[in-house]
Amino acid sequence: MKLALRQRVLVTLAATLVAAAVGLLAGYWAGRTIALRLTASRLSREAALAISEANTYAHDDHAALDAMNTSRYPYCSDEDMEFLHQLLYDSIFLKEIGRIRDNKIACSTTLGREHLSSAELPKPEGTGTDGVKVYRDPLFFRLPNVAVTTLQAGDSYVVLYPYFENFRELSGIQMKTKVISSSQGLSAHPAEKDFRLTQPILTRNSDFRIGDTLYSTRCSSLVINNICITASLSVSEALLANRGEMKAMLALGGTVGGLFGFLVALLHWRNRSLENQLRRAIRKDKLRVVFQPIVNLASGEIVGAEALSRWTDEEGFAVGPDIFVKIAEERGFVGEITRLVVRHVLRDFAETLRTHADFHISINVAAADLGDPRFLPMLEQSLDRAGVSAASVVIEITESSTALHQVAMEAIRHLRRLGHSVHIDDFGTGYSSLSYLHDLSVDAIKIDQSFTRAIGTEAVTVSILPQILAMAETLHLQVIVEGIETSRQAAYFSGGSKSILGQGWLFGRPVPTEEFLHRLRTEDEKAALVATAAA
Ligand code: C2E
Ligand code: MG
Ligand code: MG
Repeated sequence: MKLALRQRVLVTLAATLVAAAVGLLAGYWAGRTIALRLTASRLSREAALAISEANTYAHDDHAALDAMNTSRYPYCSDEDMEFLHQLLYDSIFLKEIGRIRDNKIACSTTLGREHLSSAELPKPEGTGTDGVKVYRDPLFFRLPNVAVTTLQAGDSYVVLYPYFENFRELSGIQMKTKVISSSQGLSAHPAEKDFRLTQPILTRNSDFRIGDTLYSTRCSSLVINNICITASLSVSEALLANRGEMKAMLALGGTVGGLFGFLVALLHWRNRSLENQLRRAIRKDKLRVVFQPIVNLASGEIVGAEALSRWTDEEGFAVGPDIFVKIAEERGFVGEITRLVVRHVLRDFAETLRTHADFHISINVAAADLGDPRFLPMLEQSLDRAGVSAASVVIEITESSTALHQVAMEAIRHLRRLGHSVHIDDFGTGYSSLSYLHDLSVDAIKIDQSFTRAIGTEAVTVSILPQILAMAETLHLQVIVEGIETSRQAAYFSGGSKSILGQGWLFGRPVPTEEFLHRLRTEDEKAALVATAAA
């Protein structure tokens, strides 16, 4: 006993841990997905932010060039030099500004007017659509070691603050940003060289991932600042940056997984113990069988009863047959329930069945029974011993159990040869088709409760009912309607020409033998009185 308990604890623990591990994996996957999504949108935001800053600088640079080209001072005069110094002083983004004459530097804020080189300007790297020339030649403009950009418009030039390298500081950007070539002539100027990046994805708005790095490119739409900026972050940095989300997802996954595993284990033990209890209950004959009347809808007369099993477990809880019959089916001992029901029916009703030739009891038979070689002999011998004819015991089989292997077909034929009526239970919920019903050669269909419940509603199931009734008529099948709870539902079926049988709370709930027999006797007496009065 102790060992069994220890084993249960260990298995439950193992199931919890395994499910928690699966949950952690799922949580990691979810957290990673969220982190990468968040990073992608952050990268695109930051690239857009950098672009908007670059646009501000570009406006400033171009405003300085415009002011220089429209100045009224003679170029490089004292007033002009003072004007240039003032312009440089006012601008945050310019390192140096100057004038050009005969394709040479004529004067500049850094070099003044003397000691100027006689060298000609180098070839510009490109010319923008607005005519502004772009140079990237640090040596010529005397700013060694800094890859600065120089813009020239007319006879004026400005040397830009090398801001692209400093985007991070300037805009508070956390990500690595890269400035990519533009049609204005800025050549690729990445913060770090990445040869996997190709021109097309770096020169239009796009979000992409190459290897273990995420990228987002945003481009400026300004003519004066025709550049694209790509922000990038490695996957591991992205996960680190979103570790809060990662941790939350891991915790959630682990907890949900663990709980799930724990509950599954509990359910498993509960089922296992239910199974054992059920086996004990059957062995000790603790299942009860109750009987629900089946009536002729036209006359209201009781023509039969369905035997239904009932079980209360050892803790005193009533367990529904839909649960315990299923457990027995799954564990392969449903035949024992069937045997118990047959035994109870014959013990309690043998006499009634012998004396009431037109009264029958319906028994639910599981799919497994049909394939069990012991079932038919057991039934036959039991009936023999009780002196009850096969015609008095109806066999109900569910539609799904007949979906149909040869064995079930064979068993149905055999049952009918013996004299039993065979009814298809829960009709309409399974796989039946017309031709299939024909092949089955059964005696009746029991229309499932779901159809009855739908009467008076708009449900499509209602529209199928007339077809089912017509089909039954064509195939000469008796119809029994399940789950009749209201007189409106009964009226729906009792109008037709063919006599239809009904079963449901309107005519009586399932009750123990004694109660059922009492009712039957009362009805018998009433009928006898009516008969005497008529005579
Ligand atoms: P079933 O054979 O279709 O039995 C009819 C079910 O409908 C019964 O449920 C019955 O109590 C219920 N019922 C009858 N009239 C009404 C009504 O007007 N309204 C409502 N809402 N329900 C109504 P129960 O007894 O819980 O049985 C459920 C199912 O379990 C049965 O469906 C049958 O498939 C299975 N079952 C019950 N006893 C046995 C058994 O001894 N052996 C086997 N193999 N299956 C059984
Ligand atoms: Mg039934
Ligand atoms: Mg049914």
